[in-house]
Amino acid sequence: MKLTPKTLWEIVKEVNQKYFDNELSVKKIKWTKVSTLYYLYPCRYRLWAVCEPDTKTIYLNENIKKISHKMPRYVLTYLIFHECIHLLYLTHCLSFAKIEKNFPQFKKANQWLLDNDKRLITG
Ligand SMILES: [Zn+2]
Repeated sequence: MKLTPKTLWEIVKEVNQKYFDNELSVKKIKWTKVSTLYYLYPCRYRLWAVCEPDTKTIYLNENIKKISHKMPRYVLTYLIFHECIHLLYLTHCLSFAKIEKNFPQFKKANQWLLDNDKRLITG
C-alpha cells in the first residue's frame, strides 16, 4: 500500500461514513514516535496507534511508514477504525466490541498486527 499524505484522511472519511453514519468527529490524524504513544491513553494496540478523545486526535506510530509497503490497506483501515471507536468508548467494553465486530476482516487484521509487532519496532 502506498501512503500518500491524503491516504490517512481518505481512510478516516471512509470509516466515518461506512461505520458511523458520518457522525464521528475526528480533528486530526498524525504520525508520532513510539515513545509518545505510551504516554497517551492505554490500549492494547498502543504500539501501533492511539486515540486521544479530548482532542479527537488519532496518532499512528511513524514506523508504519517504513513497513507500509508490506501492510495491506485493510489493516491500516482497521487500525484507524479501532481508534475511531475509542472516541466513543475509552475501554474495550462490550459496546466497543459490538461495533468493532462490524469490520469484515476483523480477525484477519488483528492477526496481521500480532504477526508484525516485531517488524514495527525494528522498522
Ligand atoms: Zn483500543
